[in-house]
Amino acid sequence: MRGEDLMKYFFGGFVRVHILHHAAEEPVCGVYMMEELARHGYQLSPGTLYPILHQLTQSGYLRCQQRVVEGRRRKYYRITPSGRKLLCQAREKLQELAGEVLHPKTASTAGRRAARAAR
Ligand SMILES: [Zn+2]
Repeated sequence: MRGEDLMKYFFGGFVRVHILHHAAEEPVCGVYMMEELARHGYQLSPGTLYPILHQLTQSGYLRCQQRVVEGRRRKYYRITPSGRKLLCQAREKLQELAGEVLHPKTASTAGRRAARAAR
């Protein structure tokens, strides 16, 4: 896998966690999510974002509701209880990963012990 493809693979996961996070705070529409992700440095086209929103909805992690805002019909997405559960699990994994990857010197003692044993 090329580096570029691998990055897309990583970002695909980050983007999904990000969507779940915002949909847990308030109902979000695609346009909002696209701007929010762009603010964080992810340039997603509607052709990439909408299938992800659809997929998360189909899997039962988001619930979609149509609303009319300023005369336009828009789909709003809100997290479901199983989406919340998934987000909780993702947060734990993210914290664990960030703890090790971003602060290698303060990595868990269990990790250090494993590293010593592997030598
Ligand atoms: Zn955000």
